[in-house]
Amino acid sequence: MDLKQYVTTVEDWPKPGISFKDITTIMDNGEAYKYATDQIVEYAKKVNVDIIVGPEARGFIIGCPVAYSLGIGFAPVRKEGKLPREVIRAEYGLEYGKDILTMHKDAVKPGQRVLIVDDLLATGGTIDATIQLVEELGGVVVGCAFLIELTYLEGRKKLKDYDICTLMQY
Ligand code: AMP
Repeated sequence: MDLKQYVTTVEDWPKPGISFKDITTIMDNGEAYKYATDQIVEYAKKVNVDIIVGPEARGFIIGCPVAYSLGIGFAPVRKEGKLPREVIRAEYGLEYGKDILTMHKDAVKPGQRVLIVDDLLATGGTIDATIQLVEELGGVVVGCAFLIELTYLEGRKKLKDYDICTLMQY
């Protein structure tokens, strides 16, 4: 299946110069959503994972069906102030300023093999912060999987020590 035909590119959104990749047109098509999920499930089987970790909000959309399909757990990464119990934090740089991602302290157990999943790899900042959180908890990041990679932003360089799987490249 050519998944790219289900991605909608919205130019100059949310601001001028950004070419936004809208994946809602994958999600609302049952066959395309299942195909995309199954591709990541196949990758997950190869790297042998114990738990999926995904950052809000689109990491949930991709990561949860992968976890369900494998019969394993999913641990959410959320912005500060959203998780109810004790958390650990990682700061990451945005174009202007900083943001903070958090995980529950017991979300990943030491030694667990973790696959990090998100919709899109841009600069890699979000996933870099997510990796920091997982490793602080003692998890082993065995791979990172994305539907889309914006190769011109060179996120792979930031993640050079990790195995990366992307289904579509732009
Ligand atoms: P980054 O931290 O730069 O790798 O950005 C990754 C996050 O920002 C992803 O989780 C995407 O949801 C979102 N994102 C960044 N750039 C785009 C884009 N051009 N189209 C859609 N989503 C984007």
